Amino acid sequence: MRCFYSDTFVLPLPEGHRFPMAKYSGLRERLIRDGIVSLADLHEAPQASWDDLRLVHTADYLSAIELGTLPREAQRRIGFPWSPQMVERARRSVGATLAATRAAIEAGAAANLAGGTHHAFADRGEGYCVFNDVAVASRVLQRDAGVQRIAIIDCDVHQGNGTAAIFASDRDVFAFSIHGARNYPFRKEKSRLDIELEDGTGDEPYLAQLAHSLELIFHGHNPEVVFYLAGADPFEGDRLGRLKLTIEGLRRRDELVIDRCSRAGRPIVITMSGGYATNVDDIVTIHANTIRVAAASGIIARTT
Ligand SMILES: [Zn+2]
Repeated sequence: MRCFYSDTFVLPLPEGHRFPMAKYSGLRERLIRDGIVSLADLHEAPQASWDDLRLVHTADYLSAIELGTLPREAQRRIGFPWSPQMVERARRSVGATLAATRAAIEAGAAANLAGGTHHAFADRGEGYCVFNDVAVASRVLQRDAGVQRIAIIDCDVHQGNGTAAIFASDRDVFAFSIHGARNYPFRKEKSRLDIELEDGTGDEPYLAQLAHSLELIFHGHNPEVVFYLAGADPFEGDRLGRLKLTIEGLRRRDELVIDRCSRAGRPIVITMSGGYATNVDDIVTIHANTIRVAAASGIIARTT
């Protein structure tokens, strides 16, 4: 299964910054070490073009990101300081999702080993998200591949508020988010389907809600392509998650989503989204399991 990475484009962070940047290179190394993907299947992400980014983001926002002229408060909401490397990495991360989307259409499944930056809106970023990679890839698919109906299965523990807002009045893109009710963002947007979970929700109730939602999405919307945001932050060891899913529960979550796409013969594009466990190795294990499940699934996508 082809995987696209952008961790070689390093974003300089001030000392003491709490974003676990090491998880990205750690994941790439783990996939090779454990034989989950071969070196030949690992590709450096191309850069997303400004034209593709403009399918979702406003011209004013893109120009402020490019030139580093965002107001201080808007930059603070993103959570990373501006630098040319921040811009480069954000474009590469979207490029990785675009490349994974093309690969998934050909082969059934592919992954961006980062991305899933679902807190980015058309005109602003927040929560470590500069551009909304999955929204851009959805628009590129519709423009270039004759795909109309798309589903976004967002299993990061935080609501995909940017994605929800971008597709609020779009009946072709079904935005689904299953997340912590009491977690960031505190002002939530309305996705097509939101499942809000109480703090401490564990494996079984989570998986039951997810399985039910997947049936609603596949029967009601019949997506031609699925994006899966496989956030590692519903994990019980996550600093920000507040849910109580185990590593095994998260692996079963991956199986539910990936098997459902496989049964429907629909291509799946996987992105990683958030993960803030104290132990970076746990984040890497959770993401590596997602790739392992997908690589073993043998999805053969139908083109309809
Ligand atoms: Zn998150």
